[in-house]
Amino acid sequence: MLNLQNITKRFRTTEVETTALNNVTLEIERGEFLAVMGPSGCGKSTLLNVIGMLDRPTSGAYYFDGTDIAGYTESQLADTRKRNLGFIFQSFNLIDELSVADNIGLSLLYRDVSKAERKQRVAAVMERLGIAARANHFPPQLSGGQQQRVAIGRALVAEPSVILADEPTGNLDTAHGDEVMAMLHAINDDGATVVMVTHSPAHAEHAGRVIQLLDGELLPPS
Ligand code: ADP
Ligand code: MG
Repeated sequence: MLNLQNITKRFRTTEVETTALNNVTLEIERGEFLAVMGPSGCGKSTLLNVIGMLDRPTSGAYYFDGTDIAGYTESQLADTRKRNLGFIFQSFNLIDELSVADNIGLSLLYRDVSKAERKQRVAAVMERLGIAARANHFPPQLSGGQQQRVAIGRALVAEPSVILADEPTGNLDTAHGDEVMAMLHAINDDGATVVMVTHSPAHAEHAGRVIQLLDGELLPPS
């Protein structure tokens, strides 16, 4: 369902040019749980951002559900993103001024979802993730583990077919990291495709497949 063919991504600043991804070819099946590993700076986040349509590749083709998205306008990309993709980041990226419930509901705000349905879906997600009691709290009042649950809830509430997680356990202690992994596992069991960047070999073991990047290149499967 996610098909990257010879994807190269270069970043150019005034002084230097960085090849963050070098000729990466990768197919990810629907329902797969893929872990992406590799040393810092090897291009993991860039790969996730390309898959997530947050960044356009310099060259190569990306077929999403069989469609080459190269010709998509920014608004078509945003629309495809909204309808299909959920993002989870290492740093949670919650809005401190909004309550837990409102942070989660935000992803439904600009969709064709009635206020009543939004409320019901947010409540269901909070229940599932064990944060219902925190509905009216604000992110700064929560532990890191709780904040990441809210971020997972925000990604889940729109029922995306693909979850993209960039070091989702990177800021968490072992116990909370394991909790987040269990949640990602359950999300994958429910049918979502999960692509997760991780530094943790233990967490990568949750994945059905692990790929390794080095200096922007995909290493052959070992
Ligand atoms: P990782 O997530 O594996 O640590 P990244 O994908 O963030 O690696 O970065 C890969 C390389 O691309 C690094 O050398 C990084 O400095 C560079 N890079 C990433 N994003 C940008 C950007 N927006 N502008 C310039 N260089 C970037
Ligand atoms: Mg990164």
